[in-house]
Amino acid sequence: MSAEIIDGKKIAEQIKDELIEEIAMLNNKGRTPGLATVLVGDDPASATYVRMKEKMCNELSILTKSYKLSAKIKESELLSIINDLKIDDEIHGILVQLPLPKHINEQNIINSIPENKDVDGFHPASWGKMMKGQETFLPCTPAGIQELLIRSGHNPEKKHVVIVGRSQIVGLPLANILVRKTTGANATVTVCHTGTKNISHFTKQAEILVAAIGRPEVVTVDMVNEDAVVVDVGVNRVEAPETKRGYRLVGDVHFESVSQKVRAITPVPGGVGPMTIIMLMKNTVKSAKQTVF
Ligand code: NAP
Repeated sequence: MSAEIIDGKKIAEQIKDELIEEIAMLNNKGRTPGLATVLVGDDPASATYVRMKEKMCNELSILTKSYKLSAKIKESELLSIINDLKIDDEIHGILVQLPLPKHINEQNIINSIPENKDVDGFHPASWGKMMKGQETFLPCTPAGIQELLIRSGHNPEKKHVVIVGRSQIVGLPLANILVRKTTGANATVTVCHTGTKNISHFTKQAEILVAAIGRPEVVTVDMVNEDAVVVDVGVNRVEAPETKRGYRLVGDVHFESVSQKVRAITPVPGGVGPMTIIMLMKNTVKSAKQTVF
């Protein structure tokens, strides 16, 4: 039987409609939310992500200030740009697209973003608050996954969630968010990684399985159970000479076979991706709201 396809695009559209109303209210109070996007170098995937984020800003009439910087920029120059954005009243969120070139210390850059404009939620202060369950900006991909599960009727409460991947961007914060004793969370969470022996043993037990691995189609049909809800975070380019672009995007899950077995699954593209972008917009609007007294 074919799985239910969880439509991230549609759910992101619902959130977009809610944001349009919130932004109109902010406009009435004389505020326009503003996001600065900082892209260093010419990595095509990063450029695409930034373009998609800026496009969504335009659609929502969120002000954008866009910085496209040379891959050779010095760390001190990048820090100086962020310093200017810190005191820019029109800007409520600063997005530095990762990864950065090797000669720049990524953590120094993340640390330099002020907590009140840290709409990506990667600053150590935001992380600390997240870990303690305090109010903060949550990282966009894990927050988007939680929202996607709740809004699609697959609330993680009391479920066994198995996450494959422990990155600081996806796996670790997602585990933290879903294990909290709050509504829309309160799950039992298992995190697997390259140090896990016999990953299938765990993935087969998942009521909700999240694949955030960054390797094409490694979650195969023998690794899942029939009742599972599968969230595929992966975005991998695989060669496809027959296509115009020369590549196609696939997830970390073998969609064709797994979607024939499980209860529900997110597609790639059109699953987690749109949720990540809309959560960035939501964080930017939230930040702008905090400046209205
Ligand atoms: P990452 O930093 O490379 O982390 C990958 C994680 O997967 C690591 O914890 C690694 O384990 C684990 N892993 C790798 N191979 C494995 C294997 N064979 N078995 C078990 N665990 C394995 O990647 P990421 O930043 O989390 O991103 C993951 C994927 O999601 C990528 O494809 C990325 O492009 C995509 N992504 C999509 C969005 C979106 O909005 N759609 C957002 C963010 C990321 P170790 O820790 O042991 O090395």
